[in-house]
Amino acid sequence: MNYQSTRNKGVSISSAEAIARGISADGGLFVPEQFPQITMAQLEEWGKLDYIGRAKAVLSLFLSDYSQQELDDCVKGAYQGTFENNTPAPLASLSEGVSVLELWHGPTCAFKDMALQLLPHLLTRAARKTSSAAITVILVATSGDTGKAALEGFKDVEDTQILVFYPRDGVSDMQKLQMTTQEGGNVAVCAVEGNFDDAQTGVKRIFTDTAMAQRLAAGDMAFSSANSINWGRLVPQIVYYISAYVDLARQGTIRLGEAVNVVVPTGNFGNILAGYYAKQMGLPVRRFVCASNANRVLTDFIRTGAYDRNREFHTTLSPSMDILISSNLERLLFDLTGRDDRQISQWMEELKTTGRYEVGDEIRAKIQGLFYGATVDDEGTKAVIERTFRQQGYLCDTHTAVALGAYEQYRQETGDATPCIVVSTASPYKFASSVLAALEPVEDGADDFALVRRLSEVTGTRIPAPLSALQGKEVRFEESCAPDAMETIVLEKLDLA
Ligand SMILES: *Cc1c(COP(=O)(O)O)cnc(C)c1O
Repeated sequence: MNYQSTRNKGVSISSAEAIARGISADGGLFVPEQFPQITMAQLEEWGKLDYIGRAKAVLSLFLSDYSQQELDDCVKGAYQGTFENNTPAPLASLSEGVSVLELWHGPTCAFKDMALQLLPHLLTRAARKTSSAAITVILVATSGDTGKAALEGFKDVEDTQILVFYPRDGVSDMQKLQMTTQEGGNVAVCAVEGNFDDAQTGVKRIFTDTAMAQRLAAGDMAFSSANSINWGRLVPQIVYYISAYVDLARQGTIRLGEAVNVVVPTGNFGNILAGYYAKQMGLPVRRFVCASNANRVLTDFIRTGAYDRNREFHTTLSPSMDILISSNLERLLFDLTGRDDRQISQWMEELKTTGRYEVGDEIRAKIQGLFYGATVDDEGTKAVIERTFRQQGYLCDTHTAVALGAYEQYRQETGDATPCIVVSTASPYKFASSVLAALEPVEDGADDFALVRRLSEVTGTRIPAPLSALQGKEVRFEESCAPDAMETIVLEKLDLA
């Protein structure tokens, strides 16, 4: 199976190359040239496998240039012994026909683990296959969660080094502690004396600095990115949609072949796009509910066909969805236009220059047939957390609450009672202060750990082990640097100074 660029169909490269390169030279994103098709008989077989077996089966359809042995090593490295109960994607039943797919039982208690546990393994094999440098160096600028998930994913993975920069005053105490106590022989973390933009600008500058690239090449190293547009982060996400479906069929909640709806709290459009790809492979999905917070660019886009980022940015209780440019939408549009690379290039150029593009009636109608967009603001988010806990005894985080609230709107407007999978993207403990505040008044400036303990007391739920283990853990990385000293830190950490 080869891969093409959304901005140039003439590109045709292997999956290893797509993963090693991350983004196409024309600015486009890599997509498979066609979608492998699955049958009901296959789904029935996969139902008998554990998550590792299912992941291997699905990945082998897309990553045909990886050997079975390589895929086996990759999925075991990613999912064996790293997720609670060795069950990376369990389902919880919320009410008649509504199931919650919990994707937060990994090392950082959020769904980015599903992909970032696997990506490093795919990337190191990709580097070997494409005869890149011996050591892959990952640089990350993070405003919080991605940095920690990347650190956990790359920790002690052979032939990799990872360096994470975070804004010194721009992350929560808990997030900071998660990063500064990170274990592993190939990891480093440094605070940047500035905001997230300073950290991100610094990382971008280093990525494009030819002198830095030469210094690394001399040590047989090369930079790479763990960024959410990499095919190696998208493909692991297709697996859990298929896994959830076969679990529902095995439980008897649905008949094999029966359609389901899927609800996804959405930011960069990666998670929901993986669900759409599963549908393109033949998974029986009727409709996707694309849930947004007050940053409702996608809701407006689905309703009007106009994508417009020229608007106020809101900081919300669901920060991982505070996004005005959903990069992976480009892949959906490529598919819906019949792979019209010129049209995609034109829209993306318009987005870059004017912040806006419009897809026209035909594409808009196709989008509306597949997706329903809905928005839930912070007040609605808190109300959903409170209501879901009091009425159903289920405690959810703020991002999942946006999804549940959007689903309520969908049900009300359409009356569609198709069995439904609601994707849950973070543990409630990851956003303990907002979740607790939905249940009882919370004092300003309270200590994160005290809030976590209080949330457990009030709800009778268990604190996830990775978070409780943080307390008392040794801090390994206390360093900070000025934004213009980031190059020096990189060279020092890589022993190239
Ligand atoms: C990243 C993230 C999202 C958004 O996922 P996308 O793939 O960017 O749409 C939602 N919830 C949580 C908790 C996240 O970390």
